[in-house]
Amino acid sequence: MKIRDVRLLPLFGQTPDGGWDQKFNKPERNLLTLVEVITDEGVTGLGTAYTSTPLVQGALSVLEPFLYGASALDPAATSETLHQQTFWQGRGGTITHAISGIDIALWDIFGKVTRQPISRLLGGRHRERIKPYGSMLMTAPAQMKDRLQAAMARGFRAFKIGWGPFGRRDARTDEAIVAASREAIGPDCELMVDAGGSDGYWPHGYKWAINTARMLAQYDVTWFEEALRPDDIEGYIQLREHSPVPIASCEVLTRRQAFIEWIERRAVDYIQPDVAKVGGLTEEHRIGQYADDHSILMVPHGWNTSVGLAADLQLVAAAGNARWVEYITPAPYVEDLFAEPLRMDADGMLAIPDGPGLGFEWNEDGIARHTGGMKLTKSTL
Ligand SMILES: [Mg+2]
Repeated sequence: MKIRDVRLLPLFGQTPDGGWDQKFNKPERNLLTLVEVITDEGVTGLGTAYTSTPLVQGALSVLEPFLYGASALDPAATSETLHQQTFWQGRGGTITHAISGIDIALWDIFGKVTRQPISRLLGGRHRERIKPYGSMLMTAPAQMKDRLQAAMARGFRAFKIGWGPFGRRDARTDEAIVAASREAIGPDCELMVDAGGSDGYWPHGYKWAINTARMLAQYDVTWFEEALRPDDIEGYIQLREHSPVPIASCEVLTRRQAFIEWIERRAVDYIQPDVAKVGGLTEEHRIGQYADDHSILMVPHGWNTSVGLAADLQLVAAAGNARWVEYITPAPYVEDLFAEPLRMDADGMLAIPDGPGLGFEWNEDGIARHTGGMKLTKSTL
């Protein structure tokens, strides 16, 4: 079975929580792209790339000679060929983001053809359910309560609050947001805090980070994410050593090789690769296994789409070192693309699908609504 075609479906018109610059909200300048791979036997798979559709289109024009006619049933091998053949052509950038979408779609096809969930094909399932954390932007303390309690009512029992005013005004504001959030969810739910240090012109260094980490420890915060600029590995090593709360980062890194130093030098307690950026399931599974061998947990970064969440669920099922999965809420590109709404059980856990491939059906109307009327190709399997 060979790859015959790749179709791109641009997502536009919405952003989670309005969390992005609205200038990136048009089909010709958007942020997220669905990638559909079609085989010569009419089987289709779906992936997602965390980048603008015109960039993925440009990457496809470079990948084309190595893509069409390549095996659709050897996802890791085909992806590696794409990486190797484009080594001099934008590795770690658009090319890697585009391969991420293709790789996820290829694993979806492999699962459909073999009638197995991707997690089993990656080596086997360590778990049948996982705790999703409701991930949302920070706002004024009084509004945090409403946001968190709305997510609690949906069944979440872990919450990550991030960005917004945190670290961008003063220490008093930071603590007021965290205090109000802890009060809203009570002592038994998990609370994670994401400073969003990959924001442009992040103004803080180690001193702010360590002082803030000490404040967060008083509110029993599960981890402190992106407290520093994303490339400040020396700062992270120092922070991880001295922080009373676990340190998480690496959502902006691409290529598995970029993670080696962060893992080997123990720059983080929890590593956060994004399946729609790092090269897809093949690469993220390898990153997760390498992290596991260094006693670092993998927490997939999931600020993207329902297809990304579906891929993350398969990854965490196949990972010995996973305890959570990120679930943005509220998020139209997550909620509107699943055919059936996802529901947590009484423990706030999400069941991991064990059907073929990614294991989900997609909502045609939802996809049409966010892609300017496009439809997925009907698959023969
Ligand atoms: Mg983050």
